[in-house]
Amino acid sequence: MNASEHGRRFHAEIAGGGIGGLATAAALARIGWSVRVHERQPRIQTIGAGIYIWENGLQVLDALGCLDQVIRDTHRGFAFEIRDSDGHIVDPGVLPPDKRTFTVPRIRLLHALRDAASAAGAELVVNSEAIRAEPEGILHLQSGASLKADLVVGADGVRSPIREGLGLAAVNRRTEEGSVRLIVNIRPGDFDPADHGKYIEQWAGERRFLITPINDEEVYLAFSALESDPGRHLPLDKATWKKSFPMWAHLIDRVTDDLGHWDRYSVIHLQSWSRGHVALLGDSAHAQPPNLGQGAGMAMQNALALAAMLRPVISRDRIPDALQAWEMSERPLVEHCQKWSELYGEVISMPEAQRRATFRAAATNEWIRAQIFRAAHHHPLGAPAPAEHAM
Ligand SMILES: Cc1cc2nc3c(=O)[nH]c(=O)nc-3n(C[C@H](O)[C@H](O)[C@H](O)COP(=O)(O)OP(=O)(O)OC[C@H]3O[C@@H](n4cnc5c(N)ncnc54)[C@H](O)[C@@H]3O)c2cc1C
Repeated sequence: MNASEHGRRFHAEIAGGGIGGLATAAALARIGWSVRVHERQPRIQTIGAGIYIWENGLQVLDALGCLDQVIRDTHRGFAFEIRDSDGHIVDPGVLPPDKRTFTVPRIRLLHALRDAASAAGAELVVNSEAIRAEPEGILHLQSGASLKADLVVGADGVRSPIREGLGLAAVNRRTEEGSVRLIVNIRPGDFDPADHGKYIEQWAGERRFLITPINDEEVYLAFSALESDPGRHLPLDKATWKKSFPMWAHLIDRVTDDLGHWDRYSVIHLQSWSRGHVALLGDSAHAQPPNLGQGAGMAMQNALALAAMLRPVISRDRIPDALQAWEMSERPLVEHCQKWSELYGEVISMPEAQRRATFRAAATNEWIRAQIFRAAHHHPLGAPAPAEHAM
């Protein structure tokens, strides 16, 4: 444990109590920093959806002491199968057998990170909205308070006022695609026995339907569409989705009017991930479409790496240099995931035959598979040496 200058503990103020902010709080508190998280909502909460966590993210959760809480009673994924509109398999999507993947309810991940942060000594303040930060390490709140810190972290999501106030965005755009996400219960007979436990992405024109069993009781559904598709509106127009995916009508019928949340995807690149004593992390710094399921993985990985980079620092003056070293270490993999998740999104505008051919070609191309799974194969900075996890 370090975190001291002349016997004083370093202090961090974190804007945002989402996945990135809570992971950062846990990681910094575990190396001895005093940490306070500001969440603008009245409690630590998120939408009712699932979230994929790949091997790299699982190793981070293990390092933060909350992996078991996150993955208990959850199926380990073994295949991400892609099907065309006729239901034909165009990519069996066998996942790397030595790398784990779990899909869990988002709220469970968030609560586990919250508990890990609290257990490590971080303070969580709700109804506390950050409005801007100064590079000297000052966080300004809507309440009028100005808080001094050795490090301010902007983990305040895609609309980040911390990022905007510092003028750090180089690219900030939304894609044409988004999805409605929700979780419904599983009933006996929902899946062909051959499909038990499989993750399935089925296409129909510019729509895709993602079916991800979490455990024997719950399945996470994502209805992806273009912003211009009337089927994206809530409550979900089940008739139009059943027409696109008749073979999944029994699951679509289970969606009630109170379920679902529409999100359009964002792509954000910054000129720099930090300025002085302020660091940006998670979607505020590097949002990406969810096609690789690595946005939260990158946020958690960067949180752990940030603590690893700050751990040897004993003088406040050295913190900005450590932040630059952190960015140099972590940014290449993040940008790789951003690039490949955007490339994956290109298939939406292809005619069906071309899309089918593209998926088939990619499925058997080892180089492409290596690009897609590069992050899952990465050993996160600050995580203990990984164990073997063969299926
Ligand atoms: C459709 C979809 C599916 C996805 N699926 C996956 C997946 O399967 N796997 C994966 O790894 N990633 C996935 N992602 C990406 C993942 O959700 C994000 O990368 C992740 O949530 C980023 O975490 P964050 O903490 O940076 O931001 P957020 O989760 O947005 O959290 C930001 C927090 O800050 C709070 N906040 C905002 N402004 C302020 C303020 N001014 N003051 C105080 N608090 C504030 C918010 O209320 C929120 O709690 C998906 C994204 C989408 C859109």
